[in-house]
Amino acid sequence: MSNPYQNAVKQLTNVREYLEMDDGEFERLTTHDKVIDREIEIDLDSGKKKKFKMYRAQHNSALGPYKGGIRFHPQVNVDEVKALSMWMSWKCAIAGIPFGGGKGGIEVDPKRMSKGELESLSRAYARTLAEDIGSWKDVPAPDVNTNGQIMAWMLSEYEQVVGHKEPGVFTGKPIELGGSKGREQATGLGGFYVLEKLVKKMKLRKNEVRIAVQGIGNVGYWFAYFADQAGYRVVAISDSQGGVYLEEGLNPKLTLECKQKNGKVGECFCSEGKCGVKGGKEITNEELLELPVDILVPAALENVISEENASRIKAKYVIEMANGPVTPEADEILLKRGVMLVPDVLANAGGVSTSYFEWVQNNMGYYWGEDEVLTKLKTLMDNAFEEVWKIYSNKLKVKSKKEKSMRMAAYVHGVGRVLQAMRLRGES
Ligand code: NAD
Repeated sequence: MSNPYQNAVKQLTNVREYLEMDDGEFERLTTHDKVIDREIEIDLDSGKKKKFKMYRAQHNSALGPYKGGIRFHPQVNVDEVKALSMWMSWKCAIAGIPFGGGKGGIEVDPKRMSKGELESLSRAYARTLAEDIGSWKDVPAPDVNTNGQIMAWMLSEYEQVVGHKEPGVFTGKPIELGGSKGREQATGLGGFYVLEKLVKKMKLRKNEVRIAVQGIGNVGYWFAYFADQAGYRVVAISDSQGGVYLEEGLNPKLTLECKQKNGKVGECFCSEGKCGVKGGKEITNEELLELPVDILVPAALENVISEENASRIKAKYVIEMANGPVTPEADEILLKRGVMLVPDVLANAGGVSTSYFEWVQNNMGYYWGEDEVLTKLKTLMDNAFEEVWKIYSNKLKVKSKKEKSMRMAAYVHGVGRVLQAMRLRGES
């Protein structure tokens, strides 16, 4: 498979004709405003010094300050952050929030570092980037292997460099430092709002809809929790070691409690029958993906549905809660087989949308209660879904059925908004 940046460019090429994009505009959208690629050095606990590669890609800011996470991972590289920052541009535009696309990272395995070393690394990253980020410039957030504590260290370092308080420079912060209420469940809940819209559009009966969720982390758990509460049948759920399947529907809350007690989802057949999956069946992650359910929700990793298994997917709908769980090759296979897919740039936009609410609250210095945040999230996700659906069902002038997908509609919508902002600014 080609590298992620080439994939992102290919996706842009696919929507070009729908948006009547000229060569200059295409060139502009495939070229990043700035790519920061440096080395930072920290003192290790052993007393030795060590250098790490660090990146920040700023793709496009026609709609507002760059926005996107910082990941700590051994495979982080410049093409990955370039692609991820482009996808952030489209995702923010689809959600209708005033941000452009950014993404950053450090090539590091954080599991092999002490807490003190992680703090030094986080501070060095924020110090190096201080001139290039800011509430009205570029607003980073947590991503793979980074969290609220890391944002807190980065905020502290940044504020020491610039000499004033500026909580809106990072989102995903702990509540005590200006984080938003509701952020914890926001991505899963946003996906649940998408599910409700989809079910209504397709005229499905909620209590007959069977859902399988891959992943019981932040995103997968909250999606499953809200779906279960609303009366859907969540028949399967998994973690990295495997999953459980229960035909009549399991209880995600009890399943998570059992996982926390026993260490893995597969241990949930507890003798007390408390976890809600007693009588269920242990399954592998591969089996979960191929279950005969109505809706499949990959909410863990990228590339889990590929050309190898796409023809065996039996679900009629896929809601991509993880980023990039379906490869471009698998996407074509699913489309040909009539599987309807709600793409990640729409389905998991609840996360960045609540980051936007955090930034708004920071800039006002006035904080909302959880209900207010979640009500605003619903309005935002419902609007985003409707906009994409309108393009999908009416306006997508397609040459063949092969091209008519929700992903294409979402891209037409997102890229179209960025393009329009560039044209209005006279910067295209
Ligand atoms: P997380 O670390 O909280 O949870 C990940 C889950 O995936 C865990 O249950 C883990 O056991 C499971 N998992 C790991 N390896 C697996 C494997 N090989 N097979 C099956 N399951 C496996 O992460 P998260 O925050 O829930 O993120 C999940 C996905 O959603 C990622 O793709 C992330 O980029 C995306 N996402 C997250 C947010 C957010 O707000 N957290 C927002 C947008 C997108």
